[in-house]
Amino acid sequence: APGIRIDDVTHTYGRGDSSVLALNRINLDIAETEFHALLGPSGCGKSTLLYLIGGFIPVQQGTISTPRGVVRQPGPDRAIVFQNFALFPWKTVRENVLYGLKKIGLRREEAEQRAQEFISLVHLNGFENSYPSQLSGGMQQRAAIARTLAVDPKTLLMDEPFGALDAQTRRVMQEELRAIWGRTRKTVVFVTHDVQEAVFLADRISIMSSRPGRIEHVIDVPLPKD
Ligand code: ADP
Ligand code: ADP
Repeated sequence: APGIRIDDVTHTYGRGDSSVLALNRINLDIAETEFHALLGPSGCGKSTLLYLIGGFIPVQQGTISTPRGVVRQPGPDRAIVFQNFALFPWKTVRENVLYGLKKIGLRREEAEQRAQEFISLVHLNGFENSYPSQLSGGMQQRAAIARTLAVDPKTLLMDEPFGALDAQTRRVMQEELRAIWGRTRKTVVFVTHDVQEAVFLADRISIMSSRPGRIEHVIDVPLPKD
């Protein structure tokens, strides 16, 4: 079944002489159960495409649709993990994770339990009551990942989420993410410039190039990983 359908999408930043053609006529279907990586060098339009799918920037030309309809704005079915963690600085790790769970209407007890489960998953046990400013960059990023995964969105959009982690933590997080995907088979769109990361994680990879940003190849990754 089609999960995300991207139909002839072009995106330009700015106007006139200083305008930048960030994406040029992108066509891509991502299946509902697919782990899709957008791979390419800096500036090829990966983040732009991800934000368009998320509804964070408006589609100018072409159409993006999901089973819920044409994407016009952010929706609860599509959750994003940004490159630079976006935690509430005045909330602790636990409160940050609980925030999203309350928004989707979980009872307090269930929310507490789920929060603890995902805090453990990202190896932040013992830091539940820490504030973001008390944590390293990598730990904040893991807290942001826990907050997003805990709400179990239908589509998970990730913009180089492991870029700030040290090599060992990155590997652990990649394995966890792959395992979560194996259990849930949700749609994942994962932006990276790291070939190894894309091959390890994804089912299918869009290889992008810049000037202007476009998809050169879409490849299947054949190796079984589960
Ligand atoms: P990537 O994620 O692959 O690094 P981006 O989607 O961030 O690529 O950027 C694609 C192109 O659009 C780049 O040339 C970048 O400089 C340009 N761009 C991105 N965001 C903006 C913006 N807000 N204003 C102007 N140009 C931008
Ligand atoms: P970064 O790469 O930004 O330092 P990591 O998540 O890779 O972040 O952190 C590496 C490890 O360093 C953590 O798993 C943790 O054990 C330790 N660490 C980092 N910051 C702190 C902190 N504020 N308090 C306790 N331990 C920390």
